Amino acid sequence: MKITLKLLGNIRDETMEGLRDGVGDVFQCPVQVDTGFSDLVQAYDVERKQYYSSKLLASLGKAEREERIVGVADVDLYVPRLNFVFGEADVDSGTAVVSLCRLTQEYYGLAPDEALFLERATKEIVHELGHTFGLGHCSNSRCVMHFSNGLADTDLKQALFCSVCRPKIIL
Ligand SMILES: [Zn+2]
Ligand SMILES: [Zn+2]
Repeated sequence: MKITLKLLGNIRDETMEGLRDGVGDVFQCPVQVDTGFSDLVQAYDVERKQYYSSKLLASLGKAEREERIVGVADVDLYVPRLNFVFGEADVDSGTAVVSLCRLTQEYYGLAPDEALFLERATKEIVHELGHTFGLGHCSNSRCVMHFSNGLADTDLKQALFCSVCRPKIIL
């Protein structure tokens, strides 16, 4: 199994390196960073001033059999009927998309905290990857598969799968 992180937009190299290491630590498999595409305009909704998550997800194509692909976007994502989403996954294609936008302290008018940002982003990527392995949401608030309604939920949970979820992941 290998995991490919694809850049959607302009994301710093240091950030992608941090995410590569964080995700690799959890799954214990090779993680590579790949150029995706920076032209996200096809998914932009002028009225919402946000990007349609499902469109970006579809444009990632299909992962190979022993692969998972996660598009990492620097823009704010939405799906109809929700104000925003941290990410979205598709089990059939083995792909997911995650937004970094609402994971920074700066977004909330706070001083930057790079370590906290990387931790949050790692959790959201691991969470969406869990969905690509067919996992649903977990009731354990410390488990990475717990649903994040907001950042407080993300900060409470760990980047790791709980003892119920972990065995369901077959790499
Ligand atoms: Zn989820
Ligand atoms: Zn769990």
